[in-house]
Amino acid sequence: MTTPSPAAAIRILVVDDDTEVLAAYRRVLSPATQATTRSALDELRKRLFLTAGAAALPSARADAPVFETVYCSGAEAAVAEVGSACAEDRPFAMVFLDMRMPPGPDGAWAAERIRAIDPEVEIVVCTAFSDIDPVEIGARVPPADQLFYLQKPFHPHEVRQLAVALGERRSRARRRILEFEDFDALTGLPTRSRFLRHLEQSIEEAVRTAHTLAVLYVDLDNFRRINDALGHVAGDALLRRASHLIRDTLRRDATLGENYGPPCSEDDVARLNGDQFIVLLRHLRESQVAGAVAQRLTHLSVAPAEASALPVSLTASIGVALAEGDADAEALLRQSSIAMYAAKRRGRGEVAFYNDTMSTGAQTRFGLEARLQGALERGEFDLHYQPQFDLATGRVAGMEALLRWTAPGLGRVSPEEFIPLAEETGLILPIGEWALRRACQQLRAWHDDDLQAGRVAVNVSPVQFMNPAICATVAAVLREVGLPPHLLELEITESLVMKDFEHTKRVLTDLRALGVSVAIDDFGVGYSNLRRLSEFPVSRLKIDRSLVQDIESLGRSATIVTAIVSMARALGLDVVAEGVENFDQLLQLRDRNCNEVQGFLLSRALPAMEAEALLRRIADSAAMSRTMRLRSLAG
Ligand code: C2E
Ligand code: CA
Ligand code: CA
Repeated sequence: MTTPSPAAAIRILVVDDDTEVLAAYRRVLSPATQATTRSALDELRKRLFLTAGAAALPSARADAPVFETVYCSGAEAAVAEVGSACAEDRPFAMVFLDMRMPPGPDGAWAAERIRAIDPEVEIVVCTAFSDIDPVEIGARVPPADQLFYLQKPFHPHEVRQLAVALGERRSRARRRILEFEDFDALTGLPTRSRFLRHLEQSIEEAVRTAHTLAVLYVDLDNFRRINDALGHVAGDALLRRASHLIRDTLRRDATLGENYGPPCSEDDVARLNGDQFIVLLRHLRESQVAGAVAQRLTHLSVAPAEASALPVSLTASIGVALAEGDADAEALLRQSSIAMYAAKRRGRGEVAFYNDTMSTGAQTRFGLEARLQGALERGEFDLHYQPQFDLATGRVAGMEALLRWTAPGLGRVSPEEFIPLAEETGLILPIGEWALRRACQQLRAWHDDDLQAGRVAVNVSPVQFMNPAICATVAAVLREVGLPPHLLELEITESLVMKDFEHTKRVLTDLRALGVSVAIDDFGVGYSNLRRLSEFPVSRLKIDRSLVQDIESLGRSATIVTAIVSMARALGLDVVAEGVENFDQLLQLRDRNCNEVQGFLLSRALPAMEAEALLRRIADSAAMSRTMRLRSLAG
């Protein structure tokens, strides 16, 4: 007979004040029983269960369940046993509970308490009297269908059958719970804890076979923004499809690549949380292969849910950690996440390999969220202003307010880094409102000083835009500051506009009614639907700097810019090109009829004082010709 693992044991509590009955249970349920000969059991049966000897005990089988039984002789002791079993996370599958146990509390008393401690446990009510009323006890110890009745004197076969049937019922339920924790409900991928176990085994195996393994930490770029724009249902669907795509890409790689191992197992791709996935490459012959695989995973083109929609291009930032010998699974995972953050800092769709110098930087990165709490109250934020120039007149048409955060001990933290954090934590609402108020106050001050600053443009995060209070907040700030509404422009991103059509349209209409204008930021790289765009009351499109940067090549980007400008003009919209870094770009944009430009060529974003000095210089040069003004600014 094989020795079954203790994990397979069915835990049973037997409660009876009669020592002889306890002994009878012991014989039926003890492991020894399974090896005892049939005749010995028959003998036992005759002695203890007062039966006529008609039925025989089932014979022991190699795969028969094993019982782990605890015996006690009183109601209070039984309740205590159930409590400690639950505390140790080794709950009983069932309790055989005698009803009459004088002196002291009876079985019904114990049943109530046991049910309260462990709602899942099966209770078998045992009584020597046939007068027990199941309705009464069922009412005291609900649910009634989780109570079973066993009449004394009982047959050993009954006891075993109940023990087996009820025991398996509970372990099935427990297995279901474990499976649930092992797999992510949304994507069906293994969870972090299951992945860690798999990683531990894989490390041992890699040490044995002298292979390298790599852990890839995959974080989808801007997913929060996409999720907010698409809505959560579509966001979930996108995550599901992205997870399948990662798995499929990996499978295809595994069949193609001679360089790395046997086909990937189901456990090699896991979902950590949100938009973060983890990929394990085992049996690497050389570490560069990990980089090549990671590179392929950085650009995922996800087929859309509806046939009419465009495919969604997702990029992922990936951190790679390698284990060439023995390694700690948790540490490896942490290293890959540190590398991922390093990849993020380089931009979207990048891959970074972990190295030790990254650790120090990462520690600060992890502390960032904590530092962001209270940063507003401590006055750590500031606004810088970047001018937008009118190409026809060379004058300042507006100032874009850009948030700056200086964290004590860390220095300047890029908005690309802290804005997503602020969005995740909801801190963007107070921070965004502060930026709005500050920007309006600044513009008001410049106007009071007769400085020609045009309008002020304030970036609004999708989280703010989705907030029902957005219009009321804007109206209140304008009133409080005393700024005419036409001097305020809000910049919202292209992806936001394209989803949640009704909400967006309503908010935009309300803002227009207030007299505030709206510009669509980062235009030309998202998934815009032009017909929809034409229905929105917006004033301006801001051409994304990636298109501007490529314009000199006169290739596809130049064509897109030409198309955007003519389309915008046809819709009565103005166009600002952002990220203009050289004169060539500026001329190309002017030739394409773009209205305004913004970028390092003319001015970086400046602290308020420097922005003011710039406005004064421009005022002084008002006499110059337009081209001279632009040239003098560009240096
Ligand atoms: P954005 O709205 O697209 O802002 C333009 C970014 O491009 C700014 O980066 C600006 O400094 C940079 N830039 C301007 N001209 C050039 C150029 O010629 N070349 C290049 N390479 N870059 C240029 P910044 O200030 O780091 O802001 C990054 C992003 O953070 C912004 O992108 C915006 O999405 C967000 N952000 C900044 N301030 C706020 C804010 O107050 N609220 C919200 N919700 N988001 C903000
Ligand atoms: Ca902007
Ligand atoms: Ca932009």
